[in-house]
Amino acid sequence: MTHASNQPMKPGYNGLFIPGPTNIPPQIRQAMEIPLEDMRAPDFHEFTMPLFEDVKKVFKSERGRVFIFPASGTGGWESALTNTLSPGDKILCSRFGQFSHLWADMCHRLGFEVEVLDVEWGKGVPLEDYERILSADKGHTIKAVLACQNETATGVTSDIGGVRKALDAAGHPALLFVDGVSSVGSIDFRMDEWGVDVAVSGSQKGFMLPTGLGIICVSEKALEAHKTAQMGRCFLSWEDMIKTNDTGYFPYTPATTLLRGLRCALDMIEQEGLENVFARHHRLAGGVRAAVHAWGMNLCAKEEKWWSDTVSAIVVPEGHDAAQVIKRAYEKYNLSLGTGLTKVAGKVFRIGHLGWLNEIMLMQAIGGAEMAMKDVGIPIELGSGVAAAQAHYCETA
Ligand SMILES: *Cc1c(COP(=O)(O)O)cnc(C)c1O
Repeated sequence: MTHASNQPMKPGYNGLFIPGPTNIPPQIRQAMEIPLEDMRAPDFHEFTMPLFEDVKKVFKSERGRVFIFPASGTGGWESALTNTLSPGDKILCSRFGQFSHLWADMCHRLGFEVEVLDVEWGKGVPLEDYERILSADKGHTIKAVLACQNETATGVTSDIGGVRKALDAAGHPALLFVDGVSSVGSIDFRMDEWGVDVAVSGSQKGFMLPTGLGIICVSEKALEAHKTAQMGRCFLSWEDMIKTNDTGYFPYTPATTLLRGLRCALDMIEQEGLENVFARHHRLAGGVRAAVHAWGMNLCAKEEKWWSDTVSAIVVPEGHDAAQVIKRAYEKYNLSLGTGLTKVAGKVFRIGHLGWLNEIMLMQAIGGAEMAMKDVGIPIELGSGVAAAQAHYCETA
């Protein structure tokens, strides 16, 4: 329930369909409803050591190790860069949405030499270009390659296994860093199999927690690079984390409450089964896509291979303002839809479909979006998207 300014609280739940923060399951809230605890207690490691191991499973990593910072996804990005690279190092990345843009921007601001490939928003990581550039880099001056697995601004999922293939085809030793903030724990991610060196996530998306944790998984190769990396670092430093994490403790006060929530989230994921979690996201996303097509509208994602199972960015017809749809949905129906960011502002609204969700909750988002669109004069037939999604959910299991 939203309680903005001095407005009285509206009855019923706020429909939270932004692509993060996501809906927090009641059992996770309850797991966090505890007194603060002594993070230096002699038995605290009994809680943290299995926690580190279980987080690794969500990244599908056996050989790597995880670091959990009191931060957010953005802190995870910075931690990846400053712990493995040296000032002036060259980075290859691509930009096709607000999040891939912001990571590239961070690289610039930290003083790296950055080769940014600009790709039309709605497309994903340009694999051929990556392979061509890496093959041409005979002196191996490129030290890191960045890829955003799920561009949350446009609802585009890229092929990370394909990025690994491009690196291997070029015989290039650069580190591979992946932004998995809106995919890890919701869309298949394979740290070890894809040879990812740093994978970045956060607590408030697939992990179903409040914002406040930057969760990263790091390969042995990245840990080796860390030993000679010259960038300045302190709060996000791996060496300090390693020294204390090795015995189950932290270099500074950990977000113990969130870690208790994380324990519950991992148990829930384990209970449902990671593959079942991915399948559920795929199926729920299919209903949203069926609705979009029944409305006669398009996704921002240009081709089916890029359709995201965690967020759909929906393009409103020419001459209409997506911001009005979002405003109407929120003010009249207490429904939060994702806004269009920068380049696609006014052009798209987004339905986030990740985390703790089921069919009925998605019907709320689809039905509400329909009403808001009708209200602002977008020519859709009421019930058309709802019916298409219903059919999809009835026909699939
Ligand atoms: C949300 C998001 C981020 C930013 O994470 P914060 O937790 O807001 O710092 C980065 N990348 C992607 C793909 C995201 O969806």
